[in-house]
Amino acid sequence: MADLLELKHVSAGYGRIEALSGISLTVPEGGIVALLGANGAGKSTTLNVISGLVPATSGEVRFKGRAISGERSDRIVASGISQVPEGREVFRDMSVQENLAIGAQLRNDRAGISADIEVMTGYFPILATRFKQMAGTLSGGEQQMLLIARALMARPSLLLLDEPSLGLAPLLVKQIFDIVVTLHREQKLTLLIVEQNAAVALAVSQYAYILENGEIVAEGPSADLANDDAIRRAYLGA
Ligand code: ATP
Repeated sequence: MADLLELKHVSAGYGRIEALSGISLTVPEGGIVALLGANGAGKSTTLNVISGLVPATSGEVRFKGRAISGERSDRIVASGISQVPEGREVFRDMSVQENLAIGAQLRNDRAGISADIEVMTGYFPILATRFKQMAGTLSGGEQQMLLIARALMARPSLLLLDEPSLGLAPLLVKQIFDIVVTLHREQKLTLLIVEQNAAVALAVSQYAYILENGEIVAEGPSADLANDDAIRRAYLGA
């Protein structure tokens, strides 16, 4: 499989704090890759560098073979990368329908947008039943689903998912990941998933990286990492 996304020796930080120290990773087209690690390891920073929200101080991000480091985040979205940020920031005083429409704001194919809203409510039926409801009144799990659906309204080829399981009950986590895997299969979506819930992330991904203090300390096929005792003890809380 060709690489859809490639990070080469990327560093980034906030003022004098270095959050990423020269990380390299690849996401093959059509794959699901997990990025694991403890609080503060640099996982969100990695996604924010890819989506152009945090500048890389060195190194390079390539998407579809083109260097995108330094581009504006709206250009990056337009090129096919959507991010579902951590912490469920829906537009609370707008309806589910309006939130979905905002996800398509860089598109102008009205018929295609309406059709995609139908597609999304097909994958997430709960959003159809809450269509006119204010997003701020949705449950945590429903808001997470809305965020994923909203990001997909931009028709990305790469979806960056930041901690989709955060604060959700196990049954809901399973439900959301089941839908994500179905979307991956049916919509040919490539995924980079950041998770603290390593068990779930390793179960759905083919390949995984483990970040610690801004460096990649382990990587490999997800099944191998899940079965490696040293990795399990050191990083996966086993
Ligand atoms: P979490 O799971 O807690 O979100 P993470 O692995 O996503 O953790 P990051 O959020 O990328 O980690 O943070 C990496 C480092 O950068 C941490 O030391 C964090 O304190 C620091 N950091 C993150 N955002 C900022 C910011 N806006 N200003 C200053 N420091 C920041």
